[in-house]
Amino acid sequence: MTTTQSTWPAVPDHDTTAATGPAAEQAVLDRVPRGLLIDGHWVDAADGATFDVVDPATGDVLARIADATPADGLRALDAADAARHGWATTPPRQRAEVLRRAFDLLQERREEFALLMTLEMGKPLAEARGEVTYGGEFLRWFSEEAVRIGGDHSTNPEGTGRAFVTHKPVGPALLITPWNFPLAMATRKVAPALAAGCTVVVKPAELTPLTTLLFADLLLEAGVPAGVVNVVPTTTAGDVCGPVIADPRLRKLSFTGSTPVGRTLLAQAAQNVLRTSMELGGNAPFLVFEDADLDLAVDAALAAKFRNTGQACTAANRFLVHEDVAAEFADRVTARVGAMRVGRGTEDGVAIGPLIDDRAVAKADRLVTDAVERGAVVRTGGHPVAGPGTFYAPTVLTDVQPGSAILDDEIFGPVLAIRTFRTEDEAVAAANDTEYGLIAYACTEDPARGQRLMETLETGMLGLNTGVVSNAAAPFGGVKQSGTGREGGAEGIAEYLETMYTLTPDPFRRTKGAQR
Ligand code: NAD
Repeated sequence: MTTTQSTWPAVPDHDTTAATGPAAEQAVLDRVPRGLLIDGHWVDAADGATFDVVDPATGDVLARIADATPADGLRALDAADAARHGWATTPPRQRAEVLRRAFDLLQERREEFALLMTLEMGKPLAEARGEVTYGGEFLRWFSEEAVRIGGDHSTNPEGTGRAFVTHKPVGPALLITPWNFPLAMATRKVAPALAAGCTVVVKPAELTPLTTLLFADLLLEAGVPAGVVNVVPTTTAGDVCGPVIADPRLRKLSFTGSTPVGRTLLAQAAQNVLRTSMELGGNAPFLVFEDADLDLAVDAALAAKFRNTGQACTAANRFLVHEDVAAEFADRVTARVGAMRVGRGTEDGVAIGPLIDDRAVAKADRLVTDAVERGAVVRTGGHPVAGPGTFYAPTVLTDVQPGSAILDDEIFGPVLAIRTFRTEDEAVAAANDTEYGLIAYACTEDPARGQRLMETLETGMLGLNTGVVSNAAAPFGGVKQSGTGREGGAEGIAEYLETMYTLTPDPFRRTKGAQR
């Protein structure tokens, strides 16, 4: 894949001519606030501590920002709690217009956000532009949803009363995001929360907090009132989030990240019986049947595997290919993967950026080494790339044997691992043989088989003859240990709303003289 095209849905108005280079990079970094955002003000950490954010492609320090303490986390919650009533009672149309302004501002500043994401996270610039489009769509979608929070009114079955079902904002929410999609993971939570009328404390990933800080600044410019959005980057996530989660003023926890951290947070949230949304890890199977259109299957496979250099919860982790087409599929993907250009995401034609850090490179290498020791064949790649920066060569493995760790662990790197199967039942059993259930992919030209897979695969999402499913208008989320709740779609705003039921007696029986 030498192309620099984004694998997100294309938008016609991409300004791909914007400046890159050291001056443009410095200009973007200069616009990023360095403080914590608490109650509408950019402030230092309580103890004055800071930490460095690093470019994974070079190891260079990009910026030094405030490092929140537990006291700062609670100050942020104080602000969210104080702003709670005012925002909940702000007319939905007004909340919608603030979100719409944020969407418009993001479009105007799309190149700035794209470049910043490439700098702090490493993804190729074309993909970062795609993420601005995708992330921005949550602002637009939830600006539209804000004015459609409905309810219900009915006569109870006995005819003795009237039932009203209403929805209210759940209350202050803690939003914890991962590093791999620095903008979209923030907008996917902030936009529905604000649309519903909730105030928030955002805890961005310590590896990529700059995009969230710039986004928060944009929200202030769009008219978000003080205290409605608070941001506390920190290197001590557990210490800062623990007291916030334990505080009875918090009413909602929305987390995107790894399943082990999700389990810990669920246990903490249980103490206050918090509403929770958990978008956790994945181990996506990618099934290629003997009747697949192989041109399409190869394109979809590369998109599902190599977007974000394989660092996506939706990344295809296990390729299960029918034995009749496995050799041809492997040859074709190997030719494309072998031609992928590796480099800093700002360079032209780069398809594979750095992994986020040394640990990520070590993990990819450990999984590949284990698979090879158990009999897998390296068709291309299979090794780290010398620095500076933390790169791993795009890799294709065939003949991956059962029992290899790469079939169980989230690779989170550019490694495409292939196993073969003989029957649909065997393929489905292998696909479901995991504790995860975020997304699955399948390529088949048989519509009946496609429908069967919708019923037999244990997954929250299915890409049928496509390698990218994410869309702000659709419910994103997993089953099994990939999480609970959904982000996006009509379901997304419901995560931030409480349902309330009110019963009143039949008004005709209560009012003297009333006649039917
Ligand atoms: P992570 O679980 O290490 O960290 C995620 C966030 O949680 C970070 O902000 C981190 O600082 C914070 N955190 C860590 N420990 C914490 C604690 N004890 N208390 C409070 N916060 C804590 O995950 P990551 O490495 O940043 O992201 C990669 C993981 O995220 C992968 O497993 C990936 O599949 C998953 N992910 C899932 C989705 C989804 O929608 N399902 C989307 C993107 C990423």
